[in-house]
Order: sequence, then C-alpha cells, then structure tokens
Amino acid sequence: MSRFRDSKFSSLKEYVPGEQPQDKKYIKLNTNESPFPPSPSVIKAVNSEEVSKLNLYSDPECKVLKETLANHYGMKTENVFLSNGSDEILNFAFMLYGNVNGAVFPDISYGFYKVFGDLYNINYEEIPLTDSFEINPEDYKNRNRFVVIANPNAPTGIALELSVVEDIIKSNRDNIVLVDEAYVDFGAESAIGLIGKYDNLIVCRTYSKSRSLAGARLGFAFASKELIADLELIRNSTNPYNINRLTQVAGTAAINEDSYYMNACKEISKVREYTADKLIALGFEVLPSKANFIFAKHKDIDGGELYLKLKEKGVLVRHFTKEKICQFNRITIGTKDQMDIFLDTVKTIMEEEK
Ligand SMILES: *Cc1c(COP(=O)(O)O)cnc(C)c1O
Repeated sequence: MSRFRDSKFSSLKEYVPGEQPQDKKYIKLNTNESPFPPSPSVIKAVNSEEVSKLNLYSDPECKVLKETLANHYGMKTENVFLSNGSDEILNFAFMLYGNVNGAVFPDISYGFYKVFGDLYNINYEEIPLTDSFEINPEDYKNRNRFVVIANPNAPTGIALELSVVEDIIKSNRDNIVLVDEAYVDFGAESAIGLIGKYDNLIVCRTYSKSRSLAGARLGFAFASKELIADLELIRNSTNPYNINRLTQVAGTAAINEDSYYMNACKEISKVREYTADKLIALGFEVLPSKANFIFAKHKDIDGGELYLKLKEKGVLVRHFTKEKICQFNRITIGTKDQMDIFLDTVKTIMEEEK
C-alpha cells in the first residue's frame, strides 16, 4: 500500500474471485459460469459493424436493452435498472441503504455482501445458517435493517419458497429487502411478481450465470420506480456509461432468443440431479441445490485436499477456507461430458485415499 492512501482502508479485506487460470486448460467448474456459449444471435449481433462504432460512447440510458428486458418480464422500464454485472447493483444498494439502520445477511452467502459492508463501514450482522445450512426466515423478519438474501443461496444452492420470501418482505416494510436472484433460473421461484406490491423490494439478476454472458458484465434489477431512481442517482454519479456498446447489443439479442437459455438451464438442472445422485452413491453429502452448482463433502477426504487433488488432475472446483464450510467444495454444473470426467476423477481420488 502507498503512504498516500486513506487509513480507513487499512483493514479492508477485498473480495477474492474464483481462479481464472490462463496457464493450462482445466475442466472449469469453479465460478458458476455456463458451460454453453452465448446463443447464435448474440454471436451474430456483436459483429464488426458494432465494433466499428466503439469510438462513440454507449447509450447511457440503454434504451433498447431496457425496453427489451421490461417487455420480456412484463415490467415498465421505470422499474428496471441495468448495471455492469450485478455486483454493481449490490455495491450501489449497500452504499444507499446500508448505513440507514445497518444491514443483515447470512454468515454463509455471497462473499461480496460482507466486502461492501466493510467498504462502507456498515454496521452489519451476519446471521448463522441453521445446522442444515438453511436460512431461517424468522431471523430476517421485522429487522428494521437493510436485509440481503440470495435466493437460491450461494454456495449452498438451497432456495426459499416464494411465500417465505414474501413474508420476509412484508415484515420489513420500512427497510429495503434485496433478493439476489443470480441463480433463480435454475429452478427456484422468483420474487419479481411482487415488485408492484412492495415498495421496499429490490430483485437483483445477472446475465452471468443463466445467460452465458459472464464476460460481458451485465446485471439488472427490478424495483419500484423510486428505488430505481435511487440506483440511477448513484450510477449517474459514478459511471453513467456503465454498460458498454457490445454488452448492450449482446444483452438485447440474448433476451430475444431466451428459449435457447431456458433450455440450457433445464439441461443444467438435469445434469445437476444426475451429478448429485452419482456423488451421493460415492458417499458424499450433497445439499439440495436449485442452482447451477452443488455443494458437497465426503467424510473420508478433507475438502481442501479434494480441491487440490482435483486441480492436479485438471478439474477446478471452488473451495472456501471458512471453518464452517471448509469440508465442502462447490462444484459448478458443466455439460454431462464434463461432469462424467469430474465424477471419474473424484472416483480415482477416493480410491487413492483408501
Ligand atoms: C455471481 C453472483 C453475483 C454477481 O454476478 P455478476 O457477474 O456481477 O453479475 C451476484 N450474486 C451472487 C449470489 C452470485 O453468485
């Protein structure tokens, strides 16, 4: 660190993203990307004609993309916010609402919540998951604080029912409830139908997982028009051209060909169940996931050791060192062929352990 930096950042622990190794080719099951490429229309839309316009700024209002998304989800454009990855929405929301009365989120969840909590010096409480790694909805009711939950949660993959999410929103009418639905397309129930009903709800989504555009950086949120105006205030005060030209074009084309992605999500959910069954047959404990990953551990092998051995053999999964979950690995669901290689590799490692 330099001697010039504000000392308030001295103890900030930054977010550590999953590895993106550039050295050799891995079966990459570590950052919940889609194993499928973007749809044909996206590949066609991001063409040399669009590249040749990169001398010009992008539309700061993202008019075409916003209208396309609003139509697709049956919303008004005034209820839609677009961001450079959904991390940006989380950032803005913590900035806007975190210091009003403090914040609450689960102790085991998306790592960025805590990072933003620290970055903005927010008084936050990390609520422990239950022994079965579930969110206990009662812990989030009547909190009078900024409530953040991921549904399905990460890295557990466990989802709450919509009625339970609604109860949480309903009991927090005077503070914001942000529902991070990064993985909702893989089988959970979305809260977007509640946007018209509750002015304290923000639903946060991303193109990174279910729409094969992690590298394009595109997130979106639905909320009341007043909350969208809050988010726009911060966006326009930091980076009004937050969505680049190519990403706007790609995002629009993707929504116009949405059945491609929803079919891919169905396939991934099927392969998830297949992989979970096989792991259970090998003696693993697998949490019941509604996401594009599973969280699993085995009593005969240390989580960190399994991660390292898989990596040695060319399969990357995500391991977290936090004590409560260090025996687990989070395994992104790839194609059936990738998961068969993963399962064979696990089998080999388990046999070597004996
Ligand atoms: C991946 C992820 C995000 C962030 O995704 P972006 O790539 O920034 O859109 C947000 N929340 C959760 C729970 C995630 O897993």
